[in-house]
Amino acid sequence: MTEGAARGRIIGVNLSDFQARIAATYGERDAARGIPSTVAWIAEEVGELAQAVRKGTREQQLHEFGDVVAWVASLANQLDIDLTEAIDRYARGCPRCAGIPCVCP
Ligand SMILES: [Zn+2]
Repeated sequence: MTEGAARGRIIGVNLSDFQARIAATYGERDAARGIPSTVAWIAEEVGELAQAVRKGTREQQLHEFGDVVAWVASLANQLDIDLTEAIDRYARGCPRCAGIPCVCP
């Protein structure tokens, strides 16, 4: 069993728990790195995701999605943004037309 598995998988955890886990894991380092560096890391990770989507395996895509979401959570933590609150406007369908699915032109 890997160390990560021993500590318990957080697959299926809700977004708030995930954000809190990222804060507990990286919060101190994030604060030391600062927001501009974190934004740069996100940009790099999005680039890696784009590459994985174009020519990566499913495993590589999974990996890069995880990295992007984790870095976004790190940035949100530094800005004291609650991601659950941030995505709330999508929770009831399209924020513009309120449709599910969206019927915007
Ligand atoms: Zn819409």
